[in-house]
Amino acid sequence: MTIADPAPPPSPPAPHPAPPETTRPAERNRKVQRIVILGGGFGGVYTALNLEKIFRRNEGVEITLISRDNYFLMTPFLFEAGSGVLEPRHAVSPIRMMFSRARFVDAEVERIDFNARKVHARHTPDNFEYDVEYDQLVIALGGITNRSLIPGSEKAFGFKTLGDAIFLRNKIIDLLEQADVEEDVDRRRKLLTLVIIGGGLVGVELMGEMTEFVHNLLRSYPRIPRELVRFVLIEAHNRIMPEMEESLAAYATDVLWKRGVSFLTGVRVKAIEEGKVVLPEGVEPATIDAETIILTAGLTANPLLEKLPLEKAKNGRVVVDGSMRTSSHHEVWALGDCAAIPDKNGNPYPPLAQHALREARVLARNIAAVVRGGRDAKIEKFDYETMGMLASLGRFRGVGRVGSFKIRGFLAWWVWRSYYLLQMPRWERKIRVVLDWTIALFFRNDVVKLDLFGETHPTRKSPCPPQTPVAGVQQVD
Ligand SMILES: Cc1cc2nc3c(=O)[nH]c(=O)nc-3n(C[C@H](O)[C@H](O)[C@H](O)COP(=O)(O)OP(=O)(O)OC[C@H]3O[C@@H](n4cnc5c(N)ncnc54)[C@H](O)[C@@H]3O)c2cc1C
Repeated sequence: MTIADPAPPPSPPAPHPAPPETTRPAERNRKVQRIVILGGGFGGVYTALNLEKIFRRNEGVEITLISRDNYFLMTPFLFEAGSGVLEPRHAVSPIRMMFSRARFVDAEVERIDFNARKVHARHTPDNFEYDVEYDQLVIALGGITNRSLIPGSEKAFGFKTLGDAIFLRNKIIDLLEQADVEEDVDRRRKLLTLVIIGGGLVGVELMGEMTEFVHNLLRSYPRIPRELVRFVLIEAHNRIMPEMEESLAAYATDVLWKRGVSFLTGVRVKAIEEGKVVLPEGVEPATIDAETIILTAGLTANPLLEKLPLEKAKNGRVVVDGSMRTSSHHEVWALGDCAAIPDKNGNPYPPLAQHALREARVLARNIAAVVRGGRDAKIEKFDYETMGMLASLGRFRGVGRVGSFKIRGFLAWWVWRSYYLLQMPRWERKIRVVLDWTIALFFRNDVVKLDLFGETHPTRKSPCPPQTPVAGVQQVD
């Protein structure tokens, strides 16, 4: 890897003669293979970890991972980070502490020059620029919330990053504080309405967590009438959770309905306006006034991929073969949510963590084979049958399938928690998560709204009294 550091000062003359070389000529001439991975999510981090294992003795290989955050986000724990059951920091794991020999670079990837085999990255906010050279490149940049389907989508909140979860929690607590003093009933109702657009797994799990969260918080707001609180889940398909069997989706519907959720299924939202969801003609009501509108209606590929001269699928994902290699650039690979990896029947695998984790194992083996064996290397195809799917519906309720068994209720919730706890990297994080869960069993959600700004932020009133002009000194505004 080369980093565009300022030119080093001229080195002083060596005080002693250089020690004799101990490496053999063949080793001296061997080129170091630089494997660069872009993206610190499930695909990227687990590719790096698998490569570390494979090359633990091979010093002729450099592994570098570049990502914009220096932590790995355990997305299934994002819901509980958003409700405060988990301390947000405990839903992530520091990437540097996960690696034993791979190098981590905290930067925003801006461009890839496939001819020069260089990645151009920038460390924000100081704009420090890097050029990172590679011999093998892995693209694992994930996706972003799809805001192209519904006009006005930029007015809705997304739920994809740790920042989204912290923001949503603060926002909901803030709305309850406002509703507590608001006298106008319509205004109060709007403050207390939460709409989720997109009733797939993420939307349903988020609704499960949010209903529990809000009901729990309301115990600290006795002035707010419970009947003014509204939860609405809107889904374009004719039922929620199209990823799961109908009977499991029906169970989830029942649990959420008992917690006060209204469902609008088979409904395509027409537009999102400021504080309002506009529904298509013929649907009653025509609009829903809501201060909290969250968009979970699907993902689209990372915008950086658009500019890359690689073949893309309709949804913008990079087209790769079964071994996760691109056809135009044999040293470029892609996996996870940003890649269209064909299964046995030629259909792309779904964008799920359980797939990205397993793709990473196969991809690391393929890269190792290429690094060791050159063009004749034997590489394998990714082939995986999902073992099941689980969804948490918030405190003590879950639903899903494990192998051929359908599970519901407490058992599903417990299996969901145990499975993802085991997947959480590092023992230290696992212990912190278990401690948070234990504390949450005995105490209710707290209503602390965290201040994310420093004291100079414009949202804060200056603590200093206005300055009195000093005689003879002209004040400049
Ligand atoms: C709330 C939520 C819950 C989920 N729950 C489950 C679940 O229970 N089970 C399941 O199987 N799947 C679940 N998923 C899906 C799962 O999280 C994804 O399939 C998985 O994260 C994909 O991994 P990835 O590495 O491809 O992408 P990501 O995990 O999204 O990682 C992409 C990485 O690239 C970084 N990045 C992006 N652009 C740049 C750039 N320009 N420069 C530098 N870095 C960049 C990002 O910061 C991120 O670290 C969930 C998703 C969400 C949003």
